[in-house]
Amino acid sequence: MSKNPYEVLGVARDASDSDIKKAYHKLVMKYHPDKNPGDKDAEEKFKEVNNAFDILKDPQKRAAYDRFGDAAFAGGNASGAGNPFGAGFNGFAGGAGMDDILREAMRGFGFDGFGGFGGGRGTAAQQRGRDLLDNVTISLKDAYFGTTHTVKFSSNVTCDKCNGNGTDDGKPAPVCPRCGGSGMVQTRQGFFAVEHPCPECNGLGRKIDKKCSKCDGTGAVHKQRTLDVKIPAGVEDGARLRLAGQGEAGQNGAPAGDFYLDITVKPDDKFVRDGNDLILKTDIPFTILALGGEIEVQTIDDKELTVKIAAGTQIGSRLRVKGHGMPNPHRSGSFGDLYIEVAMTVPTKLTEKQKKALEEYAGAKPGKKSGWF
Ligand SMILES: [Zn+2]
Ligand SMILES: [Zn+2]
Repeated sequence: MSKNPYEVLGVARDASDSDIKKAYHKLVMKYHPDKNPGDKDAEEKFKEVNNAFDILKDPQKRAAYDRFGDAAFAGGNASGAGNPFGAGFNGFAGGAGMDDILREAMRGFGFDGFGGFGGGRGTAAQQRGRDLLDNVTISLKDAYFGTTHTVKFSSNVTCDKCNGNGTDDGKPAPVCPRCGGSGMVQTRQGFFAVEHPCPECNGLGRKIDKKCSKCDGTGAVHKQRTLDVKIPAGVEDGARLRLAGQGEAGQNGAPAGDFYLDITVKPDDKFVRDGNDLILKTDIPFTILALGGEIEVQTIDDKELTVKIAAGTQIGSRLRVKGHGMPNPHRSGSFGDLYIEVAMTVPTKLTEKQKKALEEYAGAKPGKKSGWF
């Protein structure tokens, strides 16, 4: 599990944005890898601090954390984006190890098209890559089995010539001597210390002597990309999948953004979904309802199923068939149930013999002449 971001930054739950920023800057300077070369603990702390700030700097992420805690950010730890949110999601294995899901909690994030959270992490000039958002509509059957959505798009990716370092030789540029790698310097104005981007390195924290010719020192290039997004079995309508680190590459060595896929599950003609359960309205001959018997139904995965009908089964009642609902997206190997909702068919063509039998039945009931259906 990830750590409580408030504790990591050492701020109160109701800390103001500027308090959070201050705490972050202080810690980031303290644990910066360039100031603690080879110190694994410091590196770990540095990551934690960045991750905590990533949540708290964004009002919506912060609100989501306040409301849902870690659950708001459930998901795998994928690429090198420094995804803070550990903890897994059972049953979502596979793919490139990058599929995680942000469910209901993240629904209200309010993206408009491609765009996103951006900004703020790392040094002043290190712009975290933009998050990307796509959406797809799938059938209930696809949701049952799980499917793959292939997205083609172009975005910034880490420059392969310099590994994102922006340098001609591809190695990390030396730390800027003026700001010590933070990218920020302070000047005093009366009582106040004002922070601004370091003029020596333009806020990069590093000084590139000779820029990479391919990316002009930015560490990122524009490229056509194809992503195969694995949609897990049982996915819910309105779910948002997150592929950590699959968004735009960051500028100047900043982490990449994330890729989000919003999923719409189309209503099915036959099955109505209720959580992980499925409801199948089924016409059953009134004789079977009255006398009892068996019917055949077709399940969502196209299997024939024999269902026993007890004598005297009422219209509108629901018969539970265990384990034939949707896969539980949050628990591998677990399924919801199928409910047969009983409807009745009334025969329109009766043979003489059948008619007679029914008339006899109707006649057997005192005071009634013309049948009960
Ligand atoms: Zn500098
Ligand atoms: Zn480059």
